[in-house]
Amino acid sequence: MGQSDQSGEHLPNPANPINPTNRQGTLLVLGSGTSHGVPVIGCSCAVCLSDDPRDTRTRPSVYVTLPDGTAVLIDTAPDFRMQALRHRLPRVDAVLYTHGHADHVLGLDDLRRYNHLQRARIPCYGDAQTMGELRRTFGYIFDQATPAGGGLPEIDLFPVYGSFCLGRTEVIPVPLWHGRRLLQGYRIGSLAYLTDCSAIPDSSWELLDGVDLVVIDALRHRPHPTHFSVAEALAAVQRLGPSRAWFTHICHDLPHAATTASLPDGVELAYDGLSVTFELTQAVQSATC
Ligand SMILES: [Zn+2]
Ligand SMILES: [Zn+2]
Ligand SMILES: [Zn+2]
Repeated sequence: MGQSDQSGEHLPNPANPINPTNRQGTLLVLGSGTSHGVPVIGCSCAVCLSDDPRDTRTRPSVYVTLPDGTAVLIDTAPDFRMQALRHRLPRVDAVLYTHGHADHVLGLDDLRRYNHLQRARIPCYGDAQTMGELRRTFGYIFDQATPAGGGLPEIDLFPVYGSFCLGRTEVIPVPLWHGRRLLQGYRIGSLAYLTDCSAIPDSSWELLDGVDLVVIDALRHRPHPTHFSVAEALAAVQRLGPSRAWFTHICHDLPHAATTASLPDGVELAYDGLSVTFELTQAVQSATC
């Protein structure tokens, strides 16, 4: 798989020097909810009124810290500012976009703060359709006529299809069906993040070969045209064969405790604030990047 561009050059110096013995990355689930979030506005169902904090779900996004300290955000949800404050996210070195739907992009403007903190532009990656959606949704950022005012996000958009490098770590975009459109999930080492997915294309299974930790879309029990149901997500997990899997993009149909108790060993609902450590193999960390 070829590198798609010079993307690694745009990364600022990572927070930590390269340490060949440290191959651990961390995944932090910033948001595990569907596009409406949970609780849903104006809803008084048991999940929306639940006092279990795991039943409060902000819009979907994860934050991945690579072994060299590089901080990778996947999507900028509308709740990104509150997610960043809640977890005191220290930096954002790159953003991987899955697609341009509102629940995955509307927090983009708050990247400005990381431009200021890091004194650097932030590279953003995704497929060409998604990059086009960002240009339309955030037209003011790319319009030379926009007055500077309170400042604009300083971002660079890089369309990617095949694998590419973030610093010394290989990132593999994984095409997924979201209804009738293709979008991209991402694989980093043994970790795969597969949100907004209603089917996995035949050609994507080999990209997921050997994944050990999977975060995957499971909206609710009832079927949906653009998202896996719980049963469909379980079938995908069974075929992928990871040691652990978490469901995300969850709506208010699924109470956390009762749903997780009903799932097979190794499969749970994700929740906002879930943190997991994962391994990057030597090959992934350095051979291609
Ligand atoms: Zn509800
Ligand atoms: Zn979507
Ligand atoms: Zn979504």
